[in-house]
Amino acid sequence: MRLKSVVSSLLLHPLQPGDTIGILGGGQLGRMLALAAAQLGLKTHIYAPEEDSPAFDVATRITQASYEDEEALRVFAESVDVVTYEFENIPLKTAQFVERLNRLHPGAKALSATQDRLIEKQTIAALGLATAPFKAVDQRDDLVKAIEVLGTPSILKTRCFGYDGKGQVMIRAADEAKEAYASLQGAPAILEGFVPFTREISVVAVRAANGAFAAYDVCENIHAHHILSETRLPAAITPATHQKALNMAQSLADALDYVGVLAVEMFVTQDENGAEALIINEMAPRVHNSGHWTLEGAKTSQFEQHIRAICGWPLGSCKRLGTVMMRNLIGVDVDQWQALLQNPDNHLHLYGKSEARQGRKMGHVTQVMAL
Ligand code: AMP
Repeated sequence: MRLKSVVSSLLLHPLQPGDTIGILGGGQLGRMLALAAAQLGLKTHIYAPEEDSPAFDVATRITQASYEDEEALRVFAESVDVVTYEFENIPLKTAQFVERLNRLHPGAKALSATQDRLIEKQTIAALGLATAPFKAVDQRDDLVKAIEVLGTPSILKTRCFGYDGKGQVMIRAADEAKEAYASLQGAPAILEGFVPFTREISVVAVRAANGAFAAYDVCENIHAHHILSETRLPAAITPATHQKALNMAQSLADALDYVGVLAVEMFVTQDENGAEALIINEMAPRVHNSGHWTLEGAKTSQFEQHIRAICGWPLGSCKRLGTVMMRNLIGVDVDQWQALLQNPDNHLHLYGKSEARQGRKMGHVTQVMAL
């Protein structure tokens, strides 16, 4: 175990094969990170509150405890050589506590800038990058005023703990404000102007401890019921828009002093002359569902890149190997697993979750057609 230090500690003391990576969170992202770590001769220690965490099945060591249990967190942090997290709703206090005990990558700074939509938008805007127009909403009056400025349709979103469309209400007319505000039950929120986008895209990128930056080709994402349904590459955008999207992700990664994989979701808009513009929707300080295709569709997967980065190792190549289609298996979609295996071009991934609840990500399937 090494004591926490600044980022350069990864350069001075990179992890060695046989060392242990601590992962806060035990979902499918943690599971696929642990598998990538094992391929590189590294051990993993997963910390998660839920008994049936998918990552527990494939880890070297597990701790099942709450994110508020400081004694369990201390034992965990002191048992590993670096800590990372696989979802952004880890309490900030937990991340800061761990960061005082060991190296945490990405750091608590990246987490605080991404788990609160207001701070996230302010961080993006401060870099001169475009976001949807927004206003903070702390009380009902704020919402009434925000609607006057941003108009309708607009979207009221809780500042924290929202994902896959949870904690969001569309407001189609000003008189819906009262009901919309009540539905948030007093949670601090923001109102966002509705963006008439033509496509949703994401950049999955990685930044190393020495500042090296690499990004995968831009993905095009199709959502159903606010949940990612399909990711396709190449995205149908111009080369200039493609490059601009990668540059925006790099600006964010540099500004956050980021180490690891970062995903940036963006809207593509088009004016009447067909000119494309990019608006950042949100960032995820972690490996991302829209990067699952990289397991078979890129020279180095996003999971391996994240492990390399947080170990202080050189990055691999992000080069895409073909035309890609990745489809999520959500809820009972997973029952198609046998039919999917009939097609030898399908790469099937199942996350080992026992209950196929509605809206739950149970697995995914990827096809890569050679270029
Ligand atoms: P989010 O949780 O912010 O990623 O939002 C989930 C989905 O809602 C996005 O992928 C979009 O399809 C849609 N959405 C969110 N914000 C906006 C917006 N300001 N304008 C239009 N659509 C939005």
